[in-house]
Amino acid sequence: MTVAKINLLGLDYQAMQDFFKTLGEKSYRAEQMLKAIHFHGVRDIEKLTTFSKPLREKMAAIADIRPPDVAFESTAPDGTHKWVIRLSDGNCIETVFIPETKRGTLCVSSQVGCVLNCDFCSTGKQGFSRNLDAAEIIGQVWVAARALSRENGYHDHAITNIVMMGMGEPLLNFDNVISSMNIMLDDFCYGLSKRRVTLSTAGVVPKMLELREKSDVALAVSLHAPNDELRDILVPINKKYPLKELMRVCRDYFKDEKRRYVTMEYVMLAGVNDQPIHAKQLIALLRDIPAKVNLIPFNPFPETIYKRSDMDTIDRFRLTLMDAGINCLTRKTRGEEIDAACGQLVGEVQDRTQRVARLAKKNQRRADPRQKEA
Ligand code: SAH
Repeated sequence: MTVAKINLLGLDYQAMQDFFKTLGEKSYRAEQMLKAIHFHGVRDIEKLTTFSKPLREKMAAIADIRPPDVAFESTAPDGTHKWVIRLSDGNCIETVFIPETKRGTLCVSSQVGCVLNCDFCSTGKQGFSRNLDAAEIIGQVWVAARALSRENGYHDHAITNIVMMGMGEPLLNFDNVISSMNIMLDDFCYGLSKRRVTLSTAGVVPKMLELREKSDVALAVSLHAPNDELRDILVPINKKYPLKELMRVCRDYFKDEKRRYVTMEYVMLAGVNDQPIHAKQLIALLRDIPAKVNLIPFNPFPETIYKRSDMDTIDRFRLTLMDAGINCLTRKTRGEEIDAACGQLVGEVQDRTQRVARLAKKNQRRADPRQKEA
């Protein structure tokens, strides 16, 4: 049996130091290696000319640098760029770059598909296949950083922000997400500040507590509903960790740091969660929580039952929140033409959960009521 080589792309500083220790090398090699891979984009151990030939041979016997393959990429008229990335097992994930005047945000996936099955999210409707390993997560940043390099007409630091808001629930792939975020923050690699790397969660409460201990990145919570009854439907993990528990963690999350806020994401679904009563409930819910609210106009996808709230309704909702002293923004919708907007990332997921098959059956029964429930 051949043992798979270690993919050095996925090692953070600590893991890279351990790697060189086992080779009997000094720890400064870790810094050199991280810089070579992530800053200079080296993907061939042979090209590490600052390393002696015997060391390169020793390394190459057990390790390599394997970035993921780009299967397809496209750019929308507004400059939003999407990569479809094919993994070694054939599954595909998606990564999106959103350029703005003063910043460029990369939206990174953490899993192939998602188990959480939020009712308005097309990734959720794909079912779930598996977690990404750390190399596959940071590999998305590596691919984007190379494509958005100076040689390709971008300025030196095109990626100023990273959000873990692509496919998957990052907190259900905890260790690999932590390692890859360590690499995003590392000065030898991408050197982003903790305020410019954001993890977004649907509210996996115990893991949020663990995250607080292990990383100081920014936190976003997919709230989407101001009461349990509605949130149970839209974000089903709410049945396990209801709003009271979720809000308790949010209240204390940044308690040691003034002027840091949890971002509450709230997708605007026409007639579902966008009425004055919902704004009122939301104000009450967030009363003593250091939070700011991001309203996201819903991005429709085939077969969804939901519709986007109209702009007047979204504006009214935002003003009601702001009048109550809540910091609130409406997120611009970007990249719709290439299916690169929030919640539209689907990739190609080998659905181990059979969710797609169950959904198709359900839709068939709806279309043909003579067929009984299986
Ligand atoms: N699982 C994580 C991160 C992935 S989703 C989470 O739930 O936070 C990133 C954001 O996009 C979440 O706030 C999610 O609720 C939102 N989203 C999902 N589908 C959407 C859609 N169709 N339109 C707009 N936003 C959507």
